[in-house]
Parts: sequence; C-alpha cells; structure tokens
Amino acid sequence: MSAVEQASTMCELSPDCSSDEHCQLVLRNLETGNRTVEYYCKAHLVLRVWEVEQSDGLAAVEATQL
Ligand SMILES: [Zn+2]
Repeated sequence: MSAVEQASTMCELSPDCSSDEHCQLVLRNLETGNRTVEYYCKAHLVLRVWEVEQSDGLAAVEATQL
C-alpha cells in the first residue's frame, strides 16, 4: 500500500490553510475495511479526528506528524 502517492501536504480541510505543521491521518472504513489517507495541519487534524470519532462508519487508525 502506497501511502505517499500524493505527497502534497496541503491541508485538506481548507485550501487556504496556511499552517506549515503537516500531519497524515490514516482512516479505516469499518464497513469495507478500506483505508484512506488524508492530510491536515496539526490543528485541523485534531478537528478531523474528533469528527471521525463521532461517526459510526470510520475509525482513525494512525496520525503521524510529517
Ligand atoms: Zn489546516
């Protein structure tokens, strides 16, 4: 599995986000078992992880600061 296919570390929450602290978030879809990789700045990562924890179908597998 290639987690670095899109090494663009732009924050996915907002294209205007100018933070330079980049993090990679690995999510797992609990229904399909599929993993997806998303990129956020540190602040938005926290927000996204919270969002994921509130949802039934997704789980946060791993968060890494890049
Ligand atoms: Zn951001």
